[in-house]
Amino acid sequence: MKTNRMPVLFIGHGSPMNAIEDNEFNRTWRMIGASLPRPKAILSISAHWETRGTFVTGDSKPRTIHDFMGFPQELLDLEYPASGSDWLVELVKQTVTNSDVCVDRRWGWGLDHGTWSVLHPMYPQADIPVVQFSLDQTRKLNFHYALGQELRPLREEGVLILGSGNMVHNLRTAAPDDSAFDWALEYDSKLKDWILKKDHESIIHYDKQGQAAALSVNSAEHYIPLIYVLGASEKDEPIQFFCERVTAGSISMRCVQIG
Ligand code: ZN
Repeated sequence: MKTNRMPVLFIGHGSPMNAIEDNEFNRTWRMIGASLPRPKAILSISAHWETRGTFVTGDSKPRTIHDFMGFPQELLDLEYPASGSDWLVELVKQTVTNSDVCVDRRWGWGLDHGTWSVLHPMYPQADIPVVQFSLDQTRKLNFHYALGQELRPLREEGVLILGSGNMVHNLRTAAPDDSAFDWALEYDSKLKDWILKKDHESIIHYDKQGQAAALSVNSAEHYIPLIYVLGASEKDEPIQFFCERVTAGSISMRCVQIG
C-alpha cells in the first residue's frame, strides 16, 4: 500500500506570467509533472483563496479565475479546463474530522492563478480533476499544520496534495529585477535547513525567528500552503528541492517535493 503513496509538493509560483513564459521555473514544473506518478486527482492549496472557515470547491467544472491586474491579454484569455471531483470532495470531508470543511456555495470559487499558473505547465492537458482548498484566515499556523496532518491519508488514495505559494514573499519590498535581498536569501536558506532536519516547529513559529523571517513572511498567505505540505508529509520520506532561487528581491521560487 505504501508504494502507492503520492508525494506531496510545494511550488513557489511567483508571477502569473510563469504560466505562459518559457523560463527555468515552468520548465522545472513541467519536469516535475512528468516525473510524478499520475495522480487520480489534485487537491490544490493556493495562497490566493482566503476565507473564514475552510472550504473546498464543489463545482464539476471549476471556472478559471484571473485574479490579477496589469498582465497581458494572453494571460487573461488562458483557461484551465480541468474538471472538479465529487469523489475528492467527499473524501476530504470524510478524512477531516477535527474541523468542518464546507463545500463552497458562497463565492463560487474556481481555480485561481495560484493553482492554474502551476498546473498549466505541469499538466498542460488539464485532464486530472482539481479541487481547490481554502485557507481559513482566522486560524494560526498550528491549525493549518494539524489540518495538513489530517489530509495525509489522501496520499494513499492517489491524491496529489499541492501547496502553491512562495516560502519568502514580500511584495512591498519587491524589486523589478532578478536581485535577491540578503534577508530573503538568509530566511530561504534557513527554511531549507529546517525542512531537511524535519524541524517543522521552527517553520511554524516564524514569528520567533527574527528580522529576516519577519520581512520574508510579511503576510502569511503565501507561506501557509507550505505548512500544509509539511503537515501532510511523513518524517521518513525523501526530500527534493527545485528552483532554489530568490528573484525580484524578495520572492523565493524554492519548491519542495517530499516523498
Ligand atoms: Zn501568489
